[in-house]
Amino acid sequence: AARSGPAPTVVTRKVKRGDRFADLPELKDVRTQQAVADLIGVQNPFFAMHDGCAGATIAYEGRELINFASYNYLGLNGHPEVAAAAKAAIDHYGVSASASRVVAGERPIHRELERRIADYYGVDDAVAFVSGHATNVSAIGHLMRKNDLIVYDALAHNSIVVGATLSGATRRMFAHNDLDALEEILIQQGHAFERVLVAVEGLYSMDGDFPDLARLVKMRDRYGFWLMVDEAHSLGVLGATGGGVAEECGVDHKDVDIWMGTLSKTLSGCGGYIAGSQSLVEYLKFSAPGFVYSVGMPPAVAASAIACFDILKREPERVAKLRANGLRFVEQAKARGLDVGTASGTAIVPVMIGDSLRAVHLANRLRERGVNALPIVHPAVPERSARLRFFLTADHSFEQIDEAVAVTADEHDKLAKAGFGIKMAAA
Ligand code: PMP
Repeated sequence: AARSGPAPTVVTRKVKRGDRFADLPELKDVRTQQAVADLIGVQNPFFAMHDGCAGATIAYEGRELINFASYNYLGLNGHPEVAAAAKAAIDHYGVSASASRVVAGERPIHRELERRIADYYGVDDAVAFVSGHATNVSAIGHLMRKNDLIVYDALAHNSIVVGATLSGATRRMFAHNDLDALEEILIQQGHAFERVLVAVEGLYSMDGDFPDLARLVKMRDRYGFWLMVDEAHSLGVLGATGGGVAEECGVDHKDVDIWMGTLSKTLSGCGGYIAGSQSLVEYLKFSAPGFVYSVGMPPAVAASAIACFDILKREPERVAKLRANGLRFVEQAKARGLDVGTASGTAIVPVMIGDSLRAVHLANRLRERGVNALPIVHPAVPERSARLRFFLTADHSFEQIDEAVAVTADEHDKLAKAGFGIKMAAA
């Protein structure tokens, strides 16, 4: 048909050859960090190249470091039984599912893993995604909509925030673990929305503390929201037998509407899952974009996660050892005047530093002395609350923990004396 109205103005741009993203304004922020580090002569600790299997130790530039930077909580990455399960699955299935499970990528091992996850939680069913991050983005983004409200903890993981943003729902944040503040939001605003989702984590990866899940369940029953718990860091870590934050808090798994977790920590693989009612799982499996339009999880990853569940069930002493290690770290750190914030002595212990560059500097000093612990800086944590984060594993010995704490306290003192003025806990 003939076009009516005035002719459109055609804008043409000259195409520059070479790197067409070199002028991207956002690149500046990325490069500033490196420039500042170069200026003051601090080695950038990110993307450091480690070799070998990440366990209680790791190889770095030909040296063996005591490793506190990996999620290998129960020491199952590299466990012969786990590796053998993955190898057997590769022999049987190849390395890829080769299609979305909806079309031709479904394998028995996928359903076997999902059954194991559902049994672990005592819920109807589970669905496994290829990435933990994509699980939150896809599940939250797909479940919630414009007239809904999503309320989450101020320290909620980026994937929860991105999922909430994507959903188009209204978002509210409450101060970390402050359930009074959450209740206030629900009272003031909850009624104005069609559906309300409250998202928390089972164990917070920045502070190493966990929410009062029993109170959250009571609030759920009172205010009627959907309660979602991200167990990325609490599965196999909290609770006497590794039953997660529900076991830790004496809560029935069925009283949480949406269990989310990852395979990248205790389960030594990669991927994520949602576990819950039959309707929830059915809805996501048949319509969540991150599942429907994405390849099925590599069968070897499913097989190794199943092997991890076997070991978790058979050897609860690993969970006990991990907890003993966490308590040991916190006790030693406090005795040396280090500030561990609200850490409760689990698999994650932060040592609070404050200034980002100081945290980076301290991490570099530690690495020189054989201890691998990474600094966590803004924007992963709020400005001026940089920290060194220690991930413990059941495979660490008390000697390794004591050594790491002693080196940290020593270097911390030296930096303070040198005028870095690092924040110390009140003695
Ligand atoms: N949720 C939480 C709480 C996390 O800490 C992470 C990442 N560490 C994720 C989700 C994403 O999981 P993954 O790294 O397995 O993609």
